Formats: sequence, C-alpha cells, structure tokens
Amino acid sequence: MGLTRAAVTIIINDLISNGIIVNTESRSAASGRPPVVLEINPNQGLVAAIDMGATHLSVALGDFSARILEEVEVAFRIDRGPQECLQKADTILRELLQKRDLSTNDLSAVGVGVPGPVIADRGMVMAPPIMPGWDRFPIRATLEQKWGTAVTLNNDAELGALGEWAYGAGRGEKNLAFIKVGSGIGAGLIINQQIYGGNSGSAGEIGHLTVDENGPLCACGNHGCLEAFAGGHAIASQGRKLVASGKRTLLSEKGLDSLTARDVVEAARRGDLAAQEIIKRSGTFIGIAIAGLINLINPSTVIIGGGVAQVGDLLTGPIRQAVRERSLRASEHSVRITTAMLGRRSSLIGALVQAIHVAIHAAIERKSQFSKNTNNSLEVGQTTGTKVL
Ligand SMILES: [Zn+2]
Repeated sequence: MGLTRAAVTIIINDLISNGIIVNTESRSAASGRPPVVLEINPNQGLVAAIDMGATHLSVALGDFSARILEEVEVAFRIDRGPQECLQKADTILRELLQKRDLSTNDLSAVGVGVPGPVIADRGMVMAPPIMPGWDRFPIRATLEQKWGTAVTLNNDAELGALGEWAYGAGRGEKNLAFIKVGSGIGAGLIINQQIYGGNSGSAGEIGHLTVDENGPLCACGNHGCLEAFAGGHAIASQGRKLVASGKRTLLSEKGLDSLTARDVVEAARRGDLAAQEIIKRSGTFIGIAIAGLINLINPSTVIIGGGVAQVGDLLTGPIRQAVRERSLRASEHSVRITTAMLGRRSSLIGALVQAIHVAIHAAIERKSQFSKNTNNSLEVGQTTGTKVL
C-alpha cells in the first residue's frame, strides 16, 4: 500500500479503538519482535447474503468474518418476475432472522446476486436473457426500502469470483476467472485484484459467445451461444432427448417433463455413460470458450463453479483438454484450472463478502464522521489519530 509503518500503526490503532478490528494472537517469532495478528472483529455486525439462481434461492446470515450463522436454500423460479421473487427472498430472510430473535434492523448490509447482467451504479439488470420481466426493475432500491439497510447488487458469477478469491480456490490470486455453470453460463473476472465489471458492470457474459452461428436458439435471441450448447438448460434438454430416444440410461427413471440438469449430473456421477457423454460435450464447448478467455486475459487461475460443476472431473477433464488444445502456450502453461472450493456456495459467500465490505466502510465512515464532529469542538491545534484516516 506504500504506507510507512508509523502510518499503518496510527490507522490500525484507530480501527482497534473503534472495535472494527481486533488483536487475535501473538505468534512467537524465531527472532525479533513477534508479529501481531489482527482480524476484522466478527461481532461488529450482522450481514445477509442472497443468491438468486434461475431455479434456486439461497439466503444466509453471517458475521463480519463471513462465517455463516444461518442458511437456507429453496427451489425458486427467477422467471416468475421481480415482484414474486423479491417477496420470496424477503419472507425467507425474515424467517431466518426470526430464528435468532432478530429483525432487519439488526442488519448492517445485504449482498444480493442475480443471474443476469447488472448495471452496477443503478442497482438493476438490463435485458437479462434468463430473467424475463426483470429488465430495469429497481432491484436495489426496492430491497433497500423493504429492509432499511444498504443493499449491494452484483451478477452471480462476479460474486462467485469474489467468494472464491476471498475464501476459496483463488485466495490471493491477482488475476482469476470464475466460470459459473448453472442454468446459464457466466464469468466473473478479477483482474489486478479488482472485480472487472467493464464499462457498465456487465462484463463476463461468456455464455453468449457464439460457438456456432447455426447452432440452437439461445435465451438471448441469438443462435449458437455457448450457453445454448452447454448450460444447465441445454443439458436438461439433451437429457430429455436422450430419454425420448429410448436409449438405455438411468435418466429413464425420471419423468420426462421434470428432468433437470441436476438429474443428468447425478446420473453421470452414478456412472451412466450416456449422461456422462452429455456432460463431456458440455465441458468441451466450455473449454473452447475458456481457451479464448485465457488467450485474452492470461489469468493464473480459472475456477469452475455453479451447480453443474459439482460433477467434478467429468466436466473439468474435457475443459482442461480443450484448453490444452486451443490456448496459446504462453498463457496455457501457467494457468491452473480447478473446481470451486466453496462448492455451490461460491456466489453466496461472495454476496456475504460484498455486504461485509459495504458494512465496514459505512462503520468506518460513521465513526470518523463522529470523531470529526467531536474534533470541531476541540481547540485549534489539537488533533486525534482519527484525523489521519
Ligand atoms: Zn445467448
């Protein structure tokens, strides 16, 4: 950060006296002064995280160390539109709070993730392919009004990248890409340790790269997007075709209409060769797109997450192979491709991290504002440590 030790000490002391960070343990050093380990005070406040997927809704309460205190996941339909979906998120959040005798007044901030392109500064999504009815609906403003606390809105893949960067497979990496393979496919990019949102916040829509201009129709209206070949919706529809073809498959046990991508993933895990073939083909298409991404941004790590990725090597194997075959050696030899360490929770943890970020900044601002006001009544010449902040 380019700060001197003395400047850091003043800032740290101030944050400690405000209760925002705490001393945890002193490690004994072999020689010299023992290093002091500091952490964010987990009990400074309470935050909530909401991860809306196309077919699931996860809600969690957490402390300032991103420890999950309560969590629930329910089936959900994002295509029911904002009124119904936000109402459901609200009900579930309040139920979770009630379990601990808390209310929305106890929340310092809420982080929300949605599976669509977010216009960051407006707190809404624009023309989201798998979120019909949500176009430019004021999501953030509606929720802030409901809950009376700060709400952040991000794309779910972006939050997945953040979650894995803070607590998962991408810890400490400077440049990483998180590929979320759920019903749709999206990428969250961290470049130079910052979320890269692009000009308006909608970067990373890798699911709508054209793989074959004559390919199947995509939810976005174009033909042959990656998502239309390899996303969860596409996997489910290939599963249904497989059952309809009468071939031997474990998927025949499922009802044709209710068959989901998760069923195909489950059958593939149980050794069903035809289901594995669907996942493998999906992995190859995703790998082709990732090879392009690697050529473009040269990341150190690519993390594959989302519901479909829970199938593990059956998906990442063909991804790695396609990347090996298609990326330029200069980028390919240094990239690590791995599955998400946080499993299905990458985006939820990312939403928690965003909420904590906002809550801590607000707490520091409040406190330094308070100190400034106090300072005003001091004699000229008197200073406090807080002023340095
Ligand atoms: Zn598309």
